[in-house]
Amino acid sequence: MYYPEPMARLIEELRKLPGIGPRSAQRLAFHLLDSPAEAVKRLVGAIAEAREKVRHCSVCGNLATSDPCGICTGPGRDHSVICVVQEPRDVVAMEKTHEYKGLYHVLGGAISPMEGIGPDELRVKELLARLGSGEVKEVILATDLNVEGEVTAAYLARLLKPLGVKATRLAHGLPVGGDLEYADEVTLAKALEGRREL
Ligand SMILES: [Zn+2]
Repeated sequence: MYYPEPMARLIEELRKLPGIGPRSAQRLAFHLLDSPAEAVKRLVGAIAEAREKVRHCSVCGNLATSDPCGICTGPGRDHSVICVVQEPRDVVAMEKTHEYKGLYHVLGGAISPMEGIGPDELRVKELLARLGSGEVKEVILATDLNVEGEVTAAYLARLLKPLGVKATRLAHGLPVGGDLEYADEVTLAKALEGRREL
């Protein structure tokens, strides 16, 4: 009621974004309204274009503009290894190491009974389907090093065992309790190199 109606609506929409409280929403709204019209147009255009063109790869679940994505179809990728991660941003972290040349599988989260997330809410079935051809020899379980990530890795390792696929886990040197995406490239590359079999 203190702001002109269109501005109040803008603040209301910004508040719905993750990590944006009422004060941040107000600050962003003031910033946008003081910005050149061109800059705001570019921002709106970038949001609309990304929303329209970026989607989940139907094979690995990663975000991409093509389906299958560039990693799934890319030349020089090792199709005998799949690295299982929780979120697309973890793929970015792994790619930044330049050490990993295999494929990925994005689960879309981790098992968390507290939040009502079980295996059925994750892309587990899709992972098992990819192992059917026998081409995959190793699955690297690179879920986060917290309770949910460990539970998810242990669950997947149990599923993989009877399939004759080697399950390995990143652990070496990574900060316990941390998100994969926050590990620096050198640490992550070392963790990849020192992965252990489950
Ligand atoms: Zn893909």
